[in-house]
Amino acid sequence: MRRSVLRRGYLLAAFAAATALAVPGTAMAATPAGHSPGGGAPPTGVTPSGATAVGFGGAVATVDPTATSVGLEVLRRGGNAVDAAVAAAATLGVTEPFSSGIGGGGFFVYYDARTRSVHTLDGRETAPVSMDQNAFVNSSTGQPYAFQEGRVSGISAGIPGSLLTWQTALHNWGSGSLRDALAPAIGVAQHGFPVDATFAGQISSNAAAFSQFTSTRALYLPNGAPPAVGSTFRNPDLANTYRLIARDGVRAFYRGPIAGDIVHTVQHPPLAADPAMPWAYQIRPGTMRTSDLAAYTVRQPAPTHVTYHGLDVYGMATPSSGGSTTGEALDILKNFDLAHESRTTAMNDYLEASALAFADRNRFVGDYTPRSELNALLTNDFGKQRACQVNQAHALAAPVGPGVPGGSAGCTASAGTADDSNEQSTTNLTVADRWGNVVEYTLTIEQIGGNAMLVPGRGFLLNNELTDFNFTPTQGSAPDPNLPGPGKRPRSSMSPTILLDHGRPFLAVGSPGGATIITTVLQILVNRLDFGMSLPDAIAAPRASQRNSATTDVEQPFLDSPQAGALAALGYKWGTPAEIGAATGIEFLSGNRLLAAAEPVRRGSGSAGVVHPTR
Ligand code: GLU
Repeated sequence: MRRSVLRRGYLLAAFAAATALAVPGTAMAATPAGHSPGGGAPPTGVTPSGATAVGFGGAVATVDPTATSVGLEVLRRGGNAVDAAVAAAATLGVTEPFSSGIGGGGFFVYYDARTRSVHTLDGRETAPVSMDQNAFVNSSTGQPYAFQEGRVSGISAGIPGSLLTWQTALHNWGSGSLRDALAPAIGVAQHGFPVDATFAGQISSNAAAFSQFTSTRALYLPNGAPPAVGSTFRNPDLANTYRLIARDGVRAFYRGPIAGDIVHTVQHPPLAADPAMPWAYQIRPGTMRTSDLAAYTVRQPAPTHVTYHGLDVYGMATPSSGGSTTGEALDILKNFDLAHESRTTAMNDYLEASALAFADRNRFVGDYTPRSELNALLTNDFGKQRACQVNQAHALAAPVGPGVPGGSAGCTASAGTADDSNEQSTTNLTVADRWGNVVEYTLTIEQIGGNAMLVPGRGFLLNNELTDFNFTPTQGSAPDPNLPGPGKRPRSSMSPTILLDHGRPFLAVGSPGGATIITTVLQILVNRLDFGMSLPDAIAAPRASQRNSATTDVEQPFLDSPQAGALAALGYKWGTPAEIGAATGIEFLSGNRLLAAAEPVRRGSGSAGVVHPTR
């Protein structure tokens, strides 16, 4: 039925016109906006109303008003949640290019209303077959590279997975084609969008890295500086790349000319002879080959599953640790009555459950963790074993050691290793359609700006996802599950999560933010389900993130809360990063009403909208 709706006019006019192919990097760049043969006008049919929206007929929440608008327009024209999610993701590749795009990867979680089942796609970037365990160790010194040295290199670029994720999602569950889904983004790339302070700021904070590469500085530092806030930013090379993919399919990317350009960029980074700013490190090439791109696959693992307050919580399995770590923390928290404890005690439970779950993910979760071992982290018995280490009288002496999944352990916490990474990259989107299908999708190029190399003539940045591997072993005498390896996927923290109530969607939520993604999603669930906040309040509330480190990262406003002093008296020590996680989510209210919520302040605020504000 849905397909016939599409035949009657899905993505007409503005969208469909965008797929005519132009010669890369030539005529299109000079064509005046609005009159090009190849770019449809950006969609204007549905205007998202701000960070929160309530209504009917479908909803979209992203970090960006243009992407949300594109997703809503696809829904309004009869597309389903997968069509809208892919169109919005492709648009984010234009408007949020420092956090996402076809140079990166991600994890896609889908609720199918017809079968009432949850499915996932693992589009994680993958190491080339030539990568070995010492890829991030300097062979002349025997020392691991500094993080930025590893990041801004060809070594860090994994085989990108986003484009094949989009194709796979559309093939499995979509009702339109990849060509349809790319069309609005082509229009946005061709005609441009307004530069906001977040976009300009992300360039400024990367200016030294970007200025090392001829391609990156030409696009993002056109006169030696970021484009002015309020100016219109166009990326005609990316429009042409999308057009080529729309015409020739994903083959153009994984086996065709784009694959060749990616590999050339990795092996021969386009170094500027006269970089305007110094860079402290040698910029090393990588070893990715076209055969690595040709061999790339999107995996379709079963979601992780736990129950919490009678709801079924589905998340992402390996190589993400998102589903297992949020799931284990919820299994620990089940052993407490957070709603009726003092807020200080409940926050202590939340922070300690998170530290314990991180200890277990660091020890047990990596790409090759057998599913039986992952599932052993997600039993009520294991949650109970770990819960006995939660100390309500004193802050846990993090870092603590791992538990014994499937076995028994005493209540004395052992010492462990910390994970104190705290990035702010990545982007997240949530979509629901009129049929009740839901997409929760987190996508990334790892750091803001990825590995800083724009593929020349193609308009997209490469990821540095392989720096998510541990550069050297972290688990003492025990094996480290997250060391580099040939064809291996680095462990992720991305946590797209869908909650069902008796088989029907209750809530979908996800966030950016590196390892803080896990704690952001967990805290939103605790805020919503235990503390009774609305979804927008749960997203907006100041965050506290404990990732098995001696200090707990908190946002500045958290320090003004009554709990901060009480928790400090229990022994908590605070770190204060600028902000943690610009999340999005949708809650499914009674009477088919949808509550879409994006971040109201963080990362310049997000954008939520519904197809029909009233029934
Ligand atoms: N690379 C991170 C991960 O997969 C996401 C990037 C970020 O949000 O910093 O967990």
